[in-house]
Amino acid sequence: MSQPSASVQQFEVPHGRIRLPAFFPDATFGFVRALDSTDLISCRVEGLVMNVFHLMQHPGSSVIKNLGGLHAMARWDRPIVTDSGGFQAYSLLRNNPHAGSVTKKGILFRPEGSERGFLLTPEKSIQLQLSYGADIAICLDYCTHPDDPFEVQEVSVATTIEWAKRCRKEFDKHVEGWNPSTKPLLFAVVQGGGNLNLRRVCTQALLDIGFDGFGYGGYPFDSQGTLLVDTMRYLRELVPAEVPLFALGIGSPESLVEGVRLGYSLFDCALPTRDARSGRLYRFETEQLTAPAGRWYSKVYIGDKKHMKNREPVSPNCDCLTCAEYSCAYLQHLFKRNDPLFHRLASLHNVRFMTQLIERLRR
Ligand SMILES: [Zn+2]
Repeated sequence: MSQPSASVQQFEVPHGRIRLPAFFPDATFGFVRALDSTDLISCRVEGLVMNVFHLMQHPGSSVIKNLGGLHAMARWDRPIVTDSGGFQAYSLLRNNPHAGSVTKKGILFRPEGSERGFLLTPEKSIQLQLSYGADIAICLDYCTHPDDPFEVQEVSVATTIEWAKRCRKEFDKHVEGWNPSTKPLLFAVVQGGGNLNLRRVCTQALLDIGFDGFGYGGYPFDSQGTLLVDTMRYLRELVPAEVPLFALGIGSPESLVEGVRLGYSLFDCALPTRDARSGRLYRFETEQLTAPAGRWYSKVYIGDKKHMKNREPVSPNCDCLTCAEYSCAYLQHLFKRNDPLFHRLASLHNVRFMTQLIERLRR
């Protein structure tokens, strides 16, 4: 069976079972910075999210195909979700409107320093995701910020629906006749910014086309940095309970817990590893995740003076390599020398924290 089951506690994809809820670290360019696949397995990571927008530029599609696809290239035999790149194109164009444009055809972009331009169409995005060996492919979407004006959100929804139709068609054309056990799933992304009516229109149209799951699209925080809880909850109400919802790009510890509470079951984020490299290490403070917001976990700032002679591990209850073998004082030394070993040990710990958080949420 390759479709999500009615109870949606878990579902099968070509490279194994995805148990929910799940947190998949971002391996944007085909790797999680500072960690290799054996490190990730030791952290009990069950899947990764990679990104077509970046991979088509680096290392490039011909290299990936030559290396036998993403799984073989990264020595990773567990599920891989490939994001289509709508969000990344949005970020690029938002920061530099001269870097490209969105048309009905697709997203045209020329990354800074690049000799050539790229045209990412819905069809191209699906072709690449399938050729890379994705377990879950995601439709190309037109991403917006919740502060964008209504007219922009309206165009985004219309374009996202149109592109989703084209993605569905392209996907079905390619996987026709595939053995069900090797057939990936296809998710669509719901846009509409903070406008509930547009969210409803977009969701209904995508449900009519039919997908295996849906992602919460658009930038998920308002200008104050607050998670758009009401819009997320509304989307959950619109999508049948047996269909999994992916909280794309959401994965700070507190947002993940909030997302699970709202009925979302898949999460990906680069924040835990970025925090790790910056010396912000996560630690559980209570057994229960119901403690007041921000109280059930804390951040250990490893560069703090107080850790200079601290012989304790970052977290006494953590079973990661870093906590089993190394003191805060030694980690501070590595951090201050800016050694790549710090990036690895810190990332190992924060990733394991996230998978432990998921294990607690499953219980
Ligand atoms: Zn640890």
